[in-house]
Amino acid sequence: MSQLLVVGNWKMNGSEATVAALLGELALAVQTSGVDVAVCPAYVHLGQAVKVVASSPIAVGAQDCSHRATGAYTGEVSPVMLFDMGCRWVILGHSERRQYHGESDALVAAKLAAAIEAGLSPIVCVGETREQRESGDAESVVAAQLLGALKAQAGIDSLVVAYEPVWAIGTGLTASPQQAQAMHAHIKLVLEGIAGVDAATARVLYGGSVKADNARELFAEEDIDGALVGGASLVASEFLSIVGAASI
Ligand code: PEP
Repeated sequence: MSQLLVVGNWKMNGSEATVAALLGELALAVQTSGVDVAVCPAYVHLGQAVKVVASSPIAVGAQDCSHRATGAYTGEVSPVMLFDMGCRWVILGHSERRQYHGESDALVAAKLAAAIEAGLSPIVCVGETREQRESGDAESVVAAQLLGALKAQAGIDSLVVAYEPVWAIGTGLTASPQQAQAMHAHIKLVLEGIAGVDAATARVLYGGSVKADNARELFAEEDIDGALVGGASLVASEFLSIVGAASI
């Protein structure tokens, strides 16, 4: 199995001063210790972040990108620009983009194709709402999101999927390690059936209220290959503990 991956999604948080302080602390502490680490600040802080982590093993990613490489798309940021400035990862299809910006699976698929073409490593987010879980539809919803994003792609090496149950994001509720493991195993099974996806090298991260005190038990599950961390990634000590739990 490949190394675990821990990614911080900083969402719309931070200032130049807090980014400098947080990344300064992370850059000093994160070693090349058997875990891949990335942080995803807001667009306006990406250039700063790339410079601060340049001599550390921490990679920088964006929280979204355009589905186009260039052109008349006011307000958009191209994956080509992101790669050019030193970003190596991009989060796509986060539930907050699906919910607040109406992103469809088709748009996620188009962004994914553009990101791969630009050389970025994609983190494709999937996950069900509380209602969908309660009505027994969680697995079919997640399978449909995976197929919608992945089935028409030309070929994807080193895919990362983040399973983020919507009911666990920012709520303090976490899927139990058993619930997460069951969904991760399902996701890997679905990936095996999608042409062009190398399921053997794909990593499936768990996201949804991951914290220092629940990371270890999540990472102990066979098919949990890391975490996408929101709130806890804004606190250096919390994030470093999660990275520590992944390096064991
Ligand atoms: C996220 O939004 O990607 C996330 C996992 O958030 P949190 O850890 O705050 O639940």
